Amino acid sequence: MNVLIINCGSSSLKFQLIDSDKEMILAKGICERIGSENSRIVYQKISSKEKEITEEVIPTHKQAIEAVLNALSNKKSGVIQSLSEVDAVGHRVVHGGEKFAASALLTDDVIKGIKECSDLAPLHNPVNLIGIEACKELMGDIPMVGVFDTAFHQSMSETAYLYGLPYELYEKYKIRRYGFHGTSHSFVSKRTAEFLGKDIQNMKIIVCHLGNGASITAVEKGKSVDTSMGFTPLEGLVMGTRSGDLDPGIMEFLLKRGGLDIDDIMKILNKSSGVLGLSNGLSSDFRDLGNACEKGNKDAIRAEKVFRYRAAKYIGAYVAAMNGVDAIAFTGGIGENAADVRSGICQYLGYLGVVLNMDVNMVSSIEAIISASDSKIPVVVIPTNEELAICRETVAIVHNC
Ligand code: ADP
Repeated sequence: MNVLIINCGSSSLKFQLIDSDKEMILAKGICERIGSENSRIVYQKISSKEKEITEEVIPTHKQAIEAVLNALSNKKSGVIQSLSEVDAVGHRVVHGGEKFAASALLTDDVIKGIKECSDLAPLHNPVNLIGIEACKELMGDIPMVGVFDTAFHQSMSETAYLYGLPYELYEKYKIRRYGFHGTSHSFVSKRTAEFLGKDIQNMKIIVCHLGNGASITAVEKGKSVDTSMGFTPLEGLVMGTRSGDLDPGIMEFLLKRGGLDIDDIMKILNKSSGVLGLSNGLSSDFRDLGNACEKGNKDAIRAEKVFRYRAAKYIGAYVAAMNGVDAIAFTGGIGENAADVRSGICQYLGYLGVVLNMDVNMVSSIEAIISASDSKIPVVVIPTNEELAICRETVAIVHNC
């Protein structure tokens, strides 16, 4: 089957066309700055390796999908003769609320359910829906599947997902922990067990997905039992530009003493906090921070230290939550590539008997066991592949219907 994977963001649209039988990407790319004057489509036919960049005005997501379908099927750089060669579409959908604990065929009812979750993800679900509607219009009756970032975490118990708030706020507004990055945590935990040659049903795994957005999940017997992101993706770890956990009293303080309104505060917490804020605006990118740390830059060193410490605290919390851990996995842009961050986090884990093999820890973007042979807990790097995970989910659902 050829499966088109669509990941619609507020001003961008990422896509991949995957041959699911061979699990091989045929083409991929991104439409950037949708709705602005200087939008463009970056397209790559995998067999030719060259990236084609077309600057063109793409006013809407529907036009972006039209541009993608055209790029995939045109004579010059296309990988299919016609759209009939696309057998299914898998859509990333950010929020499935409590309605979706698994991926779902995008029927009218399911689409309605996603709309009903828009309150919970006002910046994401509406654009995901625009992508879904546009594909429906342009591709007719092709089967489409929604794969939710939150679904994997629906297995959390009430004890893990409730906040210490009046229970009626949960009942009335469904305020609770949902968790995100579920597709990645699910993919990486499964792969960790396979890679270590163990049965996931007998394992307690902690997955550290460290990218611009970062979260850690405790996975027991293949199910998410707790995760660091919460009602929104703002909770938990210190991230590229997001604050992660903080005392809600700080918001009141900033409102009253800082003369800011709630929009200003949310902008600070989402866009200028995290390692960007901690490094005094130096960078949110760990490549820049790593280089600056090597030169002894105090701002970068401070930011990296806080990032590592917070991650180590969450690992400790999840060892407690699961009463043990059998493997720790690193993934995401930072988890896969930043050896110094991995070793910095693992330095806190001596009490678990974690010992890294510093030579192997230098790996980038490949699967590897980075712990030493005498480490009590194996530590692995497992590159995530959310598109492949969405493709597998899509194929499974389409085959079952
Ligand atoms: P997201 O999907 O959340 O946007 P990614 O998982 O792609 O993020 O991770 C992006 C981040 O990974 C970059 O901002 C950078 O901090 C980090 N990163 C990528 N490559 C490297 C590298 N070689 N060394 C250190 N950090 C890296």
